Amino acid sequence: MESVRVDDLVKKIVEKVTKELAQEAKGRTSVGEIVGAAVEAQRAWQWDYNLDARTKILSAIKSKLLPHAEELAKLARDDTDMGRLDDKILKKKLAITKTPGPEYFTTKAISGDNGLILEELAPFGVIASITPSTNPVATVINNTICMLSGGNGVVFSPHPGALRCTLRTVELIRGILAEEGAPVEVVSVLSDASLDSLKELMSHPDIKLISATGGPGVVRAALSSGKPAIGAGPGNPPVLVDETAHLEKAAKDVIAGASFDNNLPCIAEKELIAVNCIADDLKELMCHNGAYELKDRSKIADLVELVLTKDHKIKKDMVGKNASVYLEKLGITPPPNVRLILVECDEKHPFVQEELMMPILAMVRVADFREGLAMAKRVEHGFKHSAIIHSTNIDNMSDMAKTMETSMFVKNAPSFASIGVGGDCPTAFTIGTTTGHGPTTPLSFCRIRRCLLHGAFRIV
Ligand code: NAD
Repeated sequence: MESVRVDDLVKKIVEKVTKELAQEAKGRTSVGEIVGAAVEAQRAWQWDYNLDARTKILSAIKSKLLPHAEELAKLARDDTDMGRLDDKILKKKLAITKTPGPEYFTTKAISGDNGLILEELAPFGVIASITPSTNPVATVINNTICMLSGGNGVVFSPHPGALRCTLRTVELIRGILAEEGAPVEVVSVLSDASLDSLKELMSHPDIKLISATGGPGVVRAALSSGKPAIGAGPGNPPVLVDETAHLEKAAKDVIAGASFDNNLPCIAEKELIAVNCIADDLKELMCHNGAYELKDRSKIADLVELVLTKDHKIKKDMVGKNASVYLEKLGITPPPNVRLILVECDEKHPFVQEELMMPILAMVRVADFREGLAMAKRVEHGFKHSAIIHSTNIDNMSDMAKTMETSMFVKNAPSFASIGVGGDCPTAFTIGTTTGHGPTTPLSFCRIRRCLLHGAFRIV
């Protein structure tokens, strides 16, 4: 009886403190106040919470966020009016359960005749993280776990089109930090999503690293800030299917990857390059597995007009809808369970050249693997983001991996295998393409510090 009352009392105190902290934090609206509080919290987090303590608190964040995966997915779906709810739930779960944590850190020790050298990874301090509308919640969760693992703090800048779900995610994380007795403001967020606030955040002297996940504009802004930056920029990932591929698996994998969350992820297959001798069979298999081929030339022209501006840029309000929505707007009754629209065209077509982020996949025929590889290299535009191949020819797989030079390269699986769906990869929602960091982990947000002892501590 006694212990029940103590538990109740503790629960009430925690609730009260959580509410008070949330109230206090809500009062902070200026960028300076938000960064100032984050700096104090980060110092405490770095010095008072060792790896063991951080691991326990991050485990609590993971286990307590998991029951909110559906709520956050619904909010992200409602806020942005993009993507598919089931895939969004999967993305949240992925970010919660497969983001690497403090276990990633190891110390490098070099001993020699002159003593011992240690190299350790230290936090930068408070990081500004700019998040995209395409994965707003998953990026916040993934960044929080990675950044906090190394002792950093973070101030998120929400995308204007994903404000509510970003604020709610941060609110939940801060509630858990408060429950665990950790400094709440180590995870902070700007209360508005204006470009002015974002610029003020990036130029604040106490922001020591910028993590920019988004299109070319934000990556350029981060890189011209004069601060260390991780630039996780755009992609246009080609998928190449050669004549040696297991065609049915390739067809299913391409549909799964290209239609995942309605093609919003930057890693998703954005154009299909098929070797001519298997192209018809591949298309047929795709059409039996959730794709709809749009053949009528005038309807293809209507689709171009529907989703692209006159100068062939994407119409933002057309991004990430269900395949059935585009078909209905073209006056076509969508087949049940359609996930992807397939359009055969040539390399110059804007559906090949533009990063559509829609479940509309352009297919281009090539005579052979060599021609396909050269085309894949061209249409990826040098973003060095992602590429995919379906093949059983080891030489082709190796050649493409080398030639593409992408941060992510997937063989014989949907693109999302590279961020951990159905496989062993750790999850990354910030892929440092422009700056060469690749898929980010807790190590990406830390700096190397060397410490040596001259003349001692060699034990042999
Ligand atoms: P976006 O560029 O419109 O927005 C991303 C963020 O940048 C937002 O918070 C926005 O407010 C801010 N922003 C936009 N223009 C800016 C500017 N000129 N100066 C400062 N800040 C600016 O991106 P989006 O449409 O939300 O997301 C899709 C894009 O992001 C695609 O190009 C996709 O490939 C890319 N992306 C890349 C990764 C990766 O890890 N490499 C991950 C997700 C998305």
